[in-house]
Amino acid sequence: MPDRKQACIVGSGPNGLAAAIVLAQAGLQVEVYEAQTTPGGAARTMELTLPGFLHDFGSAVHPMGAGSPFFSSLPLHDHGLEWIHSPAPLAHPLDDGSAVVLERNLEDAKNALGLDGKVWGDLVQPFVERWGEFAPEVLGPVPIVPKHPVLMARFASIAFRSAEAIANRFQSARTRALFAGLAAHSFLSMDEPLSGAFGLLIAIPAHAVGWPIARHGSQSITNALCSYLEKLGGTVRTGSRVESLMALRGYDLTLCDITPRQLLQIGKQRLSPTFIRALERFRYGPGAFKVDYALSEPIPWTAPECLRAATVHLGGSFEEIALSEKSVQSGAPADRPFVILVQPSLFDASRAPAGNHTAWAYCHVPNGSNVDMLQRLEDQIERFAPGFRDTVLARRTLSPAGLEQMDSNLVGGDIVGGVLDLRQFAFRPTWRHYATSAPDIFICSASTPPGGGVHGMCGYHAATRAMRASALRK
Ligand SMILES: Cc1cc2nc3c(=O)[nH]c(=O)nc-3n(C[C@H](O)[C@H](O)[C@H](O)COP(=O)(O)OP(=O)(O)OC[C@H]3O[C@@H](n4cnc5c(N)ncnc54)[C@H](O)[C@@H]3O)c2cc1C
Repeated sequence: MPDRKQACIVGSGPNGLAAAIVLAQAGLQVEVYEAQTTPGGAARTMELTLPGFLHDFGSAVHPMGAGSPFFSSLPLHDHGLEWIHSPAPLAHPLDDGSAVVLERNLEDAKNALGLDGKVWGDLVQPFVERWGEFAPEVLGPVPIVPKHPVLMARFASIAFRSAEAIANRFQSARTRALFAGLAAHSFLSMDEPLSGAFGLLIAIPAHAVGWPIARHGSQSITNALCSYLEKLGGTVRTGSRVESLMALRGYDLTLCDITPRQLLQIGKQRLSPTFIRALERFRYGPGAFKVDYALSEPIPWTAPECLRAATVHLGGSFEEIALSEKSVQSGAPADRPFVILVQPSLFDASRAPAGNHTAWAYCHVPNGSNVDMLQRLEDQIERFAPGFRDTVLARRTLSPAGLEQMDSNLVGGDIVGGVLDLRQFAFRPTWRHYATSAPDIFICSASTPPGGGVHGMCGYHAATRAMRASALRK
């Protein structure tokens, strides 16, 4: 088909692949250029420690993947993707030897949260029950006219509050601690606006769609996307770093699954001075310090309930987690960092040799920090699982620089493509969202709405806008 439009994508992260699929579904000839030798960006799985131990390099738990309106429209199961749900999505151990557990079933969760069950239900239930309507509204640019105004007005009435303001509604210190752990995924301070919205935005899918892991690791998500793309006629070229967008001028459309800093590096010649200045104002957020473990046995949690959840939040009370995040925001790594830990092999035997296990853990650090957080991170695990260090067969640390080396989108270790505060929530990365000053170049990475996470919605919206704009130009 000689008159078939040609499109290319720079970067094969979940957003790049999502964009490629939208374009290929519309009949365009699509080529994806990927710098690394394996596709997937931060959704890759590899033997980072010992042979036979499979570690998720980046994303590990996928509420937004399972709840993504775009992914849900694709036959990913037929292309090998299988979600696995741990009995409970999340456990949060405390110093008294117990753990708060977030149950997947909302009624069970309300019962488990006791005195705070009703407040929890009031906060999340309307959105859990209408996830199918809620998800498309929140997983994209802020809608000027929402399709579901009453539902969205209800969300807006709480969304701009800080995590602290929402946590103050709870009577129990246990529920406050649980909420702090959820809100800390935002990389914001607990007293900042929107930090509360993040807590809710990951609590709601816990009940609506779960927090699953992918069998064999997050690479399965990537492989399923690649396999479906290939079925549509698209191609992924790995080991092909794009050094300049000038080299891609032969394509009708170029979608960039990269962040503003990289777009400036490879595309300045194609962008207007005003747009360049706007991109230069884009701000990156704190980084992550990550450790992958090969373990001889399951983690010896003091609270056995922790063995029911793939994700475990380590940080104790609301106040302690708030202090940890505040410290990172002010430029100093926390003495007692909040740690997010995932133990996938308890629920997916394919991740480690028989009898052995894997774990994945990270804490937040200032952007680009080169402070070695290993001791502090492991002290937090030991605090709730004494004897943990004795189970370690091998470990691999990834500092912010190490993360960026393996995926250049992780600028200074920022794993969500840039701060998601009020300004960059509304204008991400600029007021144009996916569009740039060049009519054929679009941005489709996590630096566009709705931001970080493996959901493909940035890619979906970018490709949809790109096709609309290119049809208008005809
Ligand atoms: C440690 C860590 C933990 C995370 N945990 C979770 C989680 O549990 N759940 C979740 O949903 N999300 C999680 N995330 C976030 C999630 O992985 C990212 O938000 C998501 O991968 C962003 O997708 P993307 O397509 O925008 O970019 P990326 O996945 O970063 O992909 C970008 C791709 O572009 C390529 N590239 C860059 N420059 C060029 C170039 N010039 N030429 C060619 N290719 C280029 C890169 O090599 C990379 O493959 C985590 C991320 C990290 C790093």
